[in-house]
Amino acid sequence: MYKPINPSGERPLMRGVALLNNSLLNKGMAFSEYERDAFGLRGLLPPAELDIEEQTKRVLHNFRRKSTDLEKYTFLTMLQQRNEVLFFHLLHANLEEMMPIIYTPTVGQACLEYGSIWRGPRGLFLSIREKGRLREIMRHWPNTGARMIVVTDGERILGLGDLGAYGMGICVGKLALYTACAGLHPYYCLPIALDVGTNNESLLADPYYIGLKQRRVRGAEYDEFINEFMESAAEVFPGALVQFEDFGNSNAFDLLKKWRNKACSFNDDIQGTAAVAMAGILAALKISNSRIEDQRLLFMGAGEAGLGIGNLFVQHLVSEGIPIEKARKTCWFVDSKGLVVASRSAELSEHKLVFAHEAEACADLASAARIIRPTALIGVAGVARVFTQEIVSMMAEFNQRPVIFALSNPTSKAECTSEEAIEWSAGRAIYASGSPMPEVQFEGRRIVSGQGNNTYIFPGVGLGVLVSQAREVTDSMFLAAARKLASMVTSEELAEGRIYPSLERIREVSHSIAVEVALIAFREGLTDLPEPVNLEEEISLRMFRPEYVEYS
Ligand code: NAD
Repeated sequence: MYKPINPSGERPLMRGVALLNNSLLNKGMAFSEYERDAFGLRGLLPPAELDIEEQTKRVLHNFRRKSTDLEKYTFLTMLQQRNEVLFFHLLHANLEEMMPIIYTPTVGQACLEYGSIWRGPRGLFLSIREKGRLREIMRHWPNTGARMIVVTDGERILGLGDLGAYGMGICVGKLALYTACAGLHPYYCLPIALDVGTNNESLLADPYYIGLKQRRVRGAEYDEFINEFMESAAEVFPGALVQFEDFGNSNAFDLLKKWRNKACSFNDDIQGTAAVAMAGILAALKISNSRIEDQRLLFMGAGEAGLGIGNLFVQHLVSEGIPIEKARKTCWFVDSKGLVVASRSAELSEHKLVFAHEAEACADLASAARIIRPTALIGVAGVARVFTQEIVSMMAEFNQRPVIFALSNPTSKAECTSEEAIEWSAGRAIYASGSPMPEVQFEGRRIVSGQGNNTYIFPGVGLGVLVSQAREVTDSMFLAAARKLASMVTSEELAEGRIYPSLERIREVSHSIAVEVALIAFREGLTDLPEPVNLEEEISLRMFRPEYVEYS
């Protein structure tokens, strides 16, 4: 079983500068007098001895002095490079403040500028030039025990498009969240950027671009490369869970379909997003006091996020006894060519086809909303400002409590702001966004908008899968995660308009989700391990706590 290892609890095999340069073992000025003598550190550190709280106070002070978010990001990256326990201790204590820096929106900016930010190996770059040698190269990674791989080919980074090798920043950020939110030990975490080229003209023309300067490889050569990667990963890091991250639309669906039953893997953009949005819908129903079978969802965007949410919503309805054909008719999509309807069947992909219902064709979202009269509007097309005053007001005419999810990232791509949704619906919208949005004061009421952040889901799912050593990751696990997340929103939080629990409770949330996920693995025969007597405690014990351990 995934063990509660703590490399920093073992006696380090290295001394002196090598020890200070090992980010998993280094404690900086928190090395004790005894350790300074025992490990040849005297003279290499200033005389003062600090404990982790004093160190945290100092780094927090320095962090807050940085004038831009990107500088804050670089500061945190360098801290992580130097001392992982301190980095995670700081993050743990200040997650709400730092999450928008290590993840969206700042990580998007960081990816755009990754070439000038990159300071040294934090993950593996595997390029198409190395096809045929991936096994050998993956063995260069120092931690053979890596168990959680987040991999991208950089084609669709957040809402920013093709960033080639710079997609590495997303994998690094996601793995930091696995540790911060679910206590996965950093030792187990491995970010991987697959560099198959880029079609981003400005990167191709940029003399400072640090990825492969060629157009994206597609077709058979791409497929062979991915096959080799998946097979090598299973061999070099047996039992590892692979999270596909920010692949382009068609590759993302194909890879998920191909690998979901063959390797322990999942796609966060499709399945993680689906679960977090599903949880938001379930929690919103508690506020609006309405029944799930009466919902009509209208999606702006029919890509990975939208179709993922639609499919999970349908699965939920089916599990509640609603026939699949009827369940599918609750979900409607607008793509770049207008409302997805039966008359467009000939040009639709198989993923959209099942949602192509009988209705008159229309080209824009406002007309579609007028025809469908949705209970919820879900924005996942990366098209900014598309939830106009006209559309939000219309939603408020159709519904006492309209659900408005503006999920496109980063903030500049949001379909509407929290303030607009609240004002245009006369304070009645139940709103969530992809990137953080400010709370709103409306007629003396404080309304806290939710952030439909995948971070509520994937760290707990990953922990549950690793602890149970599940052979595969199923949709039932994501559905269980969504239901658990929705059940954890307190009535006080709901009263403020929140449909997600406060981020302060993220470790508790991830732990509870991990328990649900592991239970599915044990009960559905997805693992060879026996179910532990006390699963909750087993999972708690395996969660990394960012505290120093004394070296003897
Ligand atoms: P995607 O590329 O797979 O899909 C985008 C879809 O939008 C495509 O179907 C495209 O045809 C459609 N589209 C583009 N322009 C359009 C237009 N003018 N009108 C109608 N449809 C249009 O991308 P994705 O993974 O589905 O992500 C979409 C957005 O959702 C991104 O901005 C991403 O940041 C965001 N997202 C948010 C979360 C979250 O909040 N938790 C999670 C995942 C994705």
